Amino acid sequence: MSGETKAQDRTDGIGAGVAGESLPGPAAGAAPMPKQLLAPVDSLSGLGPKRAALLANLGIETVGDLVFYFPRGYEDRRKLSRLADLREGDTATVEAEIVRARAIRLRRRLSLAEVTIKDDSGQFKAIWFGRDYLARAFSAGSRALFSGTVGKWNGLALRNPDYELLSGDEADRLHTGRIVPVYRLTDGVTQRMLRNWIRSALDALDEPLPETLPPALAARYDFPPADGALRQAHFPDEVDAARAARNRFAYEELLRLQVGILHARAARLHEETGTRHVVDGPFLGALRASLPFHLTPGQDRAVADILEDMASPRPMVRLIQGDVGSGKTVVGLHAIAAAADGGYQTALMAPTEILAEQHGLSLREMLAPLGLDIEVLTGSTPDAPAVRERVAHGEAHVVVGTHALIQESTSFHRLGLAIIDEQHRFGVLQRGALIEKGLNPDLIHMTATPIPRTLAITVYGGMDISVIEEMPPGRSPVVTSRITPAKVPGLHDTIRRRAAAGQQTFVVCPLVEDSAKVDLTSVTSHYRELSAGPLAGLRVGLLHGRMASDEKDAVMHAFKRGELDVLFCTTVIEVGIDCPNATTIVIEDAPQFGLTQLHQLRGRVGRGTEQSYCYLLGKHKTPEGKRRLEVMCATSSGFDVAEADLELRGPGESYGVRQAGLSDLRFADLIRDVRLLDAARRDALEILDTDPGLTAPEHALLAAGVRGAAPSG
Ligand code: ADP
Ligand code: MG
Repeated sequence: MSGETKAQDRTDGIGAGVAGESLPGPAAGAAPMPKQLLAPVDSLSGLGPKRAALLANLGIETVGDLVFYFPRGYEDRRKLSRLADLREGDTATVEAEIVRARAIRLRRRLSLAEVTIKDDSGQFKAIWFGRDYLARAFSAGSRALFSGTVGKWNGLALRNPDYELLSGDEADRLHTGRIVPVYRLTDGVTQRMLRNWIRSALDALDEPLPETLPPALAARYDFPPADGALRQAHFPDEVDAARAARNRFAYEELLRLQVGILHARAARLHEETGTRHVVDGPFLGALRASLPFHLTPGQDRAVADILEDMASPRPMVRLIQGDVGSGKTVVGLHAIAAAADGGYQTALMAPTEILAEQHGLSLREMLAPLGLDIEVLTGSTPDAPAVRERVAHGEAHVVVGTHALIQESTSFHRLGLAIIDEQHRFGVLQRGALIEKGLNPDLIHMTATPIPRTLAITVYGGMDISVIEEMPPGRSPVVTSRITPAKVPGLHDTIRRRAAAGQQTFVVCPLVEDSAKVDLTSVTSHYRELSAGPLAGLRVGLLHGRMASDEKDAVMHAFKRGELDVLFCTTVIEVGIDCPNATTIVIEDAPQFGLTQLHQLRGRVGRGTEQSYCYLLGKHKTPEGKRRLEVMCATSSGFDVAEADLELRGPGESYGVRQAGLSDLRFADLIRDVRLLDAARRDALEILDTDPGLTAPEHALLAAGVRGAAPSG
């Protein structure tokens, strides 16, 4: 069944593929999927290539896709009303006899079908705008069911009702007179078509859908058998049966996902092919001695976790999770130093060029004094070929760059460690991509967004996780407030006063240059206006993504060294920029930005011991925009921000679920199905505990889903 292929693609998208060749094929006797499900949809009678092309828009290509296309909801159309009882605004189902049917032309482009119907209680009309051809579907004297809403049309009428012509066989009812499935549609495909096609596909199956859940688990949750559940999911006898059916498939999907993730993790931990790093060498010692502060307990633990992983020959895949400013970079430095002690190189990957350059600066500052060589490699590095040479010959200890540069076109002398600084952009590195290049470095992911647990065990389910919970001492939360236009002059005075006290300010704008299309502040004109006007006399700089990379470098350096009072910038500073002396951030058109983005931007200040401030400007145009600003003013906790964001946007947008390939779960919903997910996680652990190789016959189908497409972790 194609659901299985999907499951493979999906788990492969998380972390990375470690080939799981050690798994056996399906055990003899394991039920294969009915062949009919693999046939293209247009093999169904009454479904031609034109419709098949439309169904492709819904991701439906095979008969299997079609029968596993579950309704988004149901309507209970079992209760019949009497025509005489119908009132305007009612939604009702009636069974009636056709009295008369006619097509009416209203105006040039508008026509309708009008059908007069009757039952014991009286007469009524049913009308369909724009579908005059329907008049031919009803012949006087025949009977039909109608479900719809009562509106006005020469008196009262059922407007555009769904209908079912009655042939006498009650069991045949699909569209009304029963609990009716309601599907997500695409242009040119109607509910009626989908119900008809799905019913005929189900009826045409000449063998039942085989049971794919291990019997013990099906029994534990009292799930209906696969075949019955498939039918009940579309045409349920009771609403509860539909729910049980959907849960059954959602659970199975989550179970496969978790078994895949956990199996790959177990496989990784069994590998002895990783690098056994030196974790008590001179670089690490020198780093520890050179730090101007004590690590926080969370940092200490994260460093210990990493060094333990690195010392072992098992490949490390570890996530370091800590709010913006919690000091993840420092933790990464320890890993870099340890790698260098054993003669290994580190690749540090950042989501943007600016961030890569910024990392390059701070790494040089911290590591160069210890004798480590740092290279930065981005799309705008002028002498990239020379840099590549040095990397390939092992002259560089650390290469900082964007993912693409490091993954695709760079060869390393001895790559032993890769650090992926994702901040909140949850692309998850494909470990498989590195392994394919013949590299098997230890991996550290760093992320600033505290993802809710349900997502963590899925997106990052195969990784080991270290959490840095506290901020370095002496930080106080950034004070956040909104600035109305009347208060703007006062804000300019504040910026001047802070500059006089040696404190720096960011001014963030959404656009680089003025645009005719959107009425938003551009950083170039804002910079020009303020530096010639209210902020005249201050030392100001401009930074945005369209500048040449040496210009960007120069400006960033100058700001870091305190040679600028105010930096006008775009969201290029969103991630990673570290300047403890900056205490103020002004965000123009703040409602334009997403919540996690605002939180990241705010994280650029409050990195030293001085009280810091975040000022949000701009008028909100939507309720969501308003809510985002409220959340920002109400909390400085990344966790609260993440929760609010999840509520406002859903998991796909905010948590990289889409990038991780998880948004195309067919049946399960990562937010709604928390309990199923928990159960699936527990059961997956139990299964792998008792049957690590998935060799038991009852696990054959799970094994088949995992084989060859196991995720990393
Ligand atoms: P993150 O990457 O988690 O956002 P960074 O690693 O950039 O945070 O650290 C933020 C700032 O805090 C940096 O200026 C860093 O030097 C400083 N810092 C990190 N750890 C500590 C600590 N334990 N005590 C004091 N300052 C620290
Ligand atoms: Mg950082």
